[in-house]
Amino acid sequence: MTWNLYDRLLASAESDQSICIEKEDGATLSYAELAALSGRFANFLARIGIGPNHRVAAKVEKSVEAIALYLATLRSGAVYLPLNTAYTPAETEYFVRDAQPTLIVCDPKEEADLRAIAAKAGGRVETLDHHGRGSLADAAADFPIAFDTAARGNDDLAAILYTSGTTGRSKGAMLTHGNLASNALTLVEEWRYSSRDVLIHALPIYHVHGLFVACNVTFAARGRILFMQKFDAERILATMARSTVLMGVPTFYVRLLESPNLNERTTANMRLFVAGSAPLLAETHRAWQARTGHAILERYGMTETGMIASNPYDGQRIPGSVGRPLPAVEVRIADPESGVALPADEVGMIEVKGPNVFAGYWNMPDKTAAEFRSDGFFITGDLGKLDANGYLHIVGRGKDLIITGGFNVYPKEIETEIDAIPGVSESAVVGVPHVDFGEGVTAAVVRSPGSSVDERTILAALSGRLAKFKQPKGIIFVETLPRNTMGKVQKNLLRERFAELYS
Ligand code: ATP
Ligand code: MG
Repeated sequence: MTWNLYDRLLASAESDQSICIEKEDGATLSYAELAALSGRFANFLARIGIGPNHRVAAKVEKSVEAIALYLATLRSGAVYLPLNTAYTPAETEYFVRDAQPTLIVCDPKEEADLRAIAAKAGGRVETLDHHGRGSLADAAADFPIAFDTAARGNDDLAAILYTSGTTGRSKGAMLTHGNLASNALTLVEEWRYSSRDVLIHALPIYHVHGLFVACNVTFAARGRILFMQKFDAERILATMARSTVLMGVPTFYVRLLESPNLNERTTANMRLFVAGSAPLLAETHRAWQARTGHAILERYGMTETGMIASNPYDGQRIPGSVGRPLPAVEVRIADPESGVALPADEVGMIEVKGPNVFAGYWNMPDKTAAEFRSDGFFITGDLGKLDANGYLHIVGRGKDLIITGGFNVYPKEIETEIDAIPGVSESAVVGVPHVDFGEGVTAAVVRSPGSSVDERTILAALSGRLAKFKQPKGIIFVETLPRNTMGKVQKNLLRERFAELYS
């Protein structure tokens, strides 16, 4: 065994006949079959000259073969680079130019676009569709299944994962075999994962959540993954009777709560509901518990670090908190300017150190240097506080902090107050340039169905609850909040949209 992530997750999988992945049509694939498929793909990669440190980019739909490609890349010692399937050709070209992959695997529908990009930026193109068919599968079919997994060290790169681009242009986070292995093995313990677990997998596989958390953790425990092409509330509910774990973004839980079929009976076989990638409203947590008897386990992580903190499996799961730092992960709250650690209950920058923390941003040495303190702590960019019991509470991103008339305003505090007003479904608060105040607190509000709540009512409700400087200078009603595929509110789009509001 080496430190190759593949060996650490899937050692001797080739002789394990238990089911690894079940597809939506009921077809199944055993661990042995997945090992064999990844072996074929790895032999093909080796044949075209791919080895340690080469990048393999994949802009493909979810399929068993896409997972095999990820594992084959690890086995060949190369670096896996998943790309969001929604990226436009222009965006994709940026990533290809930035990462310089030796091989780009794309959906057959996008082959012409990718070939045009590869002609300019370099790289060989192969295809793979959502059934796992395409030139890659065809080419690999004739190769043997046995493959000697390349020896890799803990610090060697396993993947480059681009951040979600919520606050600006996506950055390529360089993740090592050690980063990914430590995080997966820790979560197996923390979440009491075992081979009896059956995971409902309805997330995309180009982010930390759907790939490194959902798949790596289940592989390490030798559980079963039920693959769903996309989120479908009724389908998920119908599957719960034979599943044990659901991992989802908060929107999953909000949408499942809208179904009359969600109740104690439908969730009786489930042992764990995990939420992350964006804040889970305390209200959603409480509504879920009231309806199903299960407390959602919220955890916190990011592309650069994998998972950082988690509510406990045994013990209190606190609505609105992301729980305690994971074992071996150090979290401190620091003064954003000086980096000096702050006492319990004070809000500051969340900083992290541990085996999970990435090796730096690809091609961005200056940005990397700027995001680490001299003692090795990574500056997450998220603001939060640790309470007296060591639970972490996130108050928002540093970039979303509003400074109005010299006062700091944390959007989450205002959003929580607005969301509690009858007739409001949800809200997002941003700072918008304002001649007198520097920034003006501005709220985008979504009304509940049938509600006609207006600006006056909202301001009246807030006036007794928030200091004057925190009260919105403007309220704009919107149909929905702009969200990306992981359910994150894109506040930069709101700021752009409202930029002229006070000018
Ligand atoms: P970019 O860095 O490109 O702007 P991003 O930060 O959204 O995009 P990701 O790495 O996918 O990219 O997301 C990590 C961020 O998601 C965290 O920094 C945090 O702001 C947010 N996040 C994740 N889990 C939670 C959670 N449970 N509660 C609140 N926020 C969360
Ligand atoms: Mg980020």
